[in-house]
Amino acid sequence: MSRLDLHLHTTHSDGSCTPTEVVNMAHRTAVKALAITDHDITTGIAEATVAGQQYEIEVIPGVEISSILNNSELHILGYFLDWQDADLNGRLKTLRDSRHRRNPKIIERLQGLGIDITYDEVRALAGSDSVGRPHIARVLMDKRVVTTAKEAFDRFLAEGKPAYVPRELPSPTEAIHWIKAARGLAVLAHPTWVKVAEPSLVDLVRQLKADGLDGVEVYYSTHAVRQTREYLSLAQQLGLLVTGGSDFHGVTKPDIEVGIGKGTLHIPTSLLPKMKDAAGFL
Ligand SMILES: [Zn+2]
Ligand SMILES: [Zn+2]
Repeated sequence: MSRLDLHLHTTHSDGSCTPTEVVNMAHRTAVKALAITDHDITTGIAEATVAGQQYEIEVIPGVEISSILNNSELHILGYFLDWQDADLNGRLKTLRDSRHRRNPKIIERLQGLGIDITYDEVRALAGSDSVGRPHIARVLMDKRVVTTAKEAFDRFLAEGKPAYVPRELPSPTEAIHWIKAARGLAVLAHPTWVKVAEPSLVDLVRQLKADGLDGVEVYYSTHAVRQTREYLSLAQQLGLLVTGGSDFHGVTKPDIEVGIGKGTLHIPTSLLPKMKDAAGFL
């Protein structure tokens, strides 16, 4: 039984396995075509493509772009895009840099509130470059400014609080346009995580389709059977492509494996020719 897996992360973003290791795992679970979809970066594709040739595994260029809608993150996957496109990579670099710009701004706000804290202290506690608000909360606890992380968020760090700084992310429409400008297919990632109060998911997806959205990630490691059915009918109703992937990250999501998700994921290989057709490859 051959498989597809169109949603995989590597060490080039927040995954713990190199592109070669991911391809080796794909070989073991009989995946015949895969897409590397690192967050906001395309540099892992080259290595995966070379590794794929060894097993005759097709490696589809991909990316997962973080966007923001109503203060919640919404992810847009790109497939078959020209991943070496200079405009695309310039936009992705600006997006990645925004992560690093946010934390020092939060520290400046806290300093402005009279709190004795430096960014160096937060970085030292985090122990790596991936600094986030939980680390800042822990420094505030160590300094006895607050007694719990929850208090740090409630008083300072949460949205609407005095040290809150939003991430600078594109809108979903912009993310779709970036992918289309690089001649790719734009797909709504894991609809189960999309927070929509108003409009409803179907209205949102209809709007995104008008902006150029090509498909919906129907098959996903944590979609319940009922959700898979719901998203499949949504895609069919709106005439959108159907895709699927495990969202493998390695050790940070240890229960998810390449190609099989939590063991029961099966993504029909018949989806791929339809995607290729839409991307102009057939
Ligand atoms: Zn995602
Ligand atoms: Zn992902």
